[in-house]
Amino acid sequence: MGQQNQPAATPAMAATPAVNDVGVAGVASVKPTEDEKKKLKMQFRNRKKHLSKDYEVRKKLGEGNFALVRLCTRKRDKKDFAVKIIHRKRMSKPKQQVALEREIEILMSVDHPNCVKLQDIRETQNHVYLVLELCEGGELFDMICKAGKFTELQAVRVIEQITSALLYLHNRGIVHRDIKPENILLLEKSADSVVKLTDFGLANKIEGPINGLKTSCGTLYYAAPEVLGPGPYQASIDYWSLGVVLYVLLVGYLPFYHDAREETINQIRRARVHFDMKDWGNISVQARDIIRKLLTKDAKSRLNGETLMAHEWMTSNLKDESVVNVDKLKKFQDWKNGFTNIIDTVVAIQKWKRLAGVETKTPLRTMSQLAREDDPFQENAKESGVGAYYATDNRPGVRYVPGIGSVHE
Ligand code: ATP
Repeated sequence: MGQQNQPAATPAMAATPAVNDVGVAGVASVKPTEDEKKKLKMQFRNRKKHLSKDYEVRKKLGEGNFALVRLCTRKRDKKDFAVKIIHRKRMSKPKQQVALEREIEILMSVDHPNCVKLQDIRETQNHVYLVLELCEGGELFDMICKAGKFTELQAVRVIEQITSALLYLHNRGIVHRDIKPENILLLEKSADSVVKLTDFGLANKIEGPINGLKTSCGTLYYAAPEVLGPGPYQASIDYWSLGVVLYVLLVGYLPFYHDAREETINQIRRARVHFDMKDWGNISVQARDIIRKLLTKDAKSRLNGETLMAHEWMTSNLKDESVVNVDKLKKFQDWKNGFTNIIDTVVAIQKWKRLAGVETKTPLRTMSQLAREDDPFQENAKESGVGAYYATDNRPGVRYVPGIGSVHE
């Protein structure tokens, strides 16, 4: 099922090592050949040339914790792209500089139909500009809310494409580490469009199954228990996060959520997934099963790319009538968009570590320190304020709680 929707295999996919080559951790490192290195050097030879010489920079498309993303048009052929504008001041610490270089290096090497492709890089003293393939459909969840209807069958197609991207990345030794709804974009303005995984800002390479990674990073609600420390963890963390994304996609709220962050961490560590049948009644049994198998505490028994692709939910012919609760998804989006302004990703690492009982002395950075005052193309950039934890449900006496949906007070 859904195979016809899969983008055609590219030469990059063909070069993906066979499943059997993948180590215990699901990771096998594929190093670029000398020829590939030369080709990349040629493609990105204009790094020092100013962006505005070749591109016209236009409206803002989005914003993350570390970058602004704008629409831009290449002057020579009027082709549109998205340009990710990173202010070097935001990445001034040695570790952040290493992370930025790593993001660029990984982006340069990634070539898969379900991963956003890097087209060009430009650098000035103050900024780094990553010119990316444009995803005109924006974020998947926003498009679903706009469309007003989304079925389980469509969800299968989304998960298939993200899994295809993860198989490709993991086979190259790359762990994404920030799988969440904001990083799932659509190539075209349709909920059925090709899905693209973006934001390799936290991605890292594992040089072999025994090494693993240790940094607690990503976005708390999507983080696997083993990411909360002390590590090491493996590529399988991306499949846990995908399980959280699927849960939210189907019912519009998070499986692990509490107003108190410490309690959210406890819930993730316990890994007990609750399915309220009032919300899950219309969703297939297979969907609950696949989520349970993705949100499995023991990383080794968790579904991986191959077992996920072979799961009954992905392969059986689901009737295209099981409809996702778009109303709740809309409330989740309202909540998330308010919340986005609270720094919850990599900058919160220190706080996580403290909560997870790992000693740290570095203070957590505040929102105002990260306000984006330096977008060189801004016409209406605003100071980001601290967002609300709840989006208010529009019915009196009812509020939306990201962990359970709407509750009556
Ligand atoms: P984070 O806070 O998760 O680290 P970031 O600062 O690295 O994020 P991105 O996630 O890469 O920034 O981009 C921020 C937003 O910009 C995305 O959520 C999306 O809405 C928009 N965006 C990013 N890349 C593209 C693209 N290629 N096409 C269209 N919109 C994009």
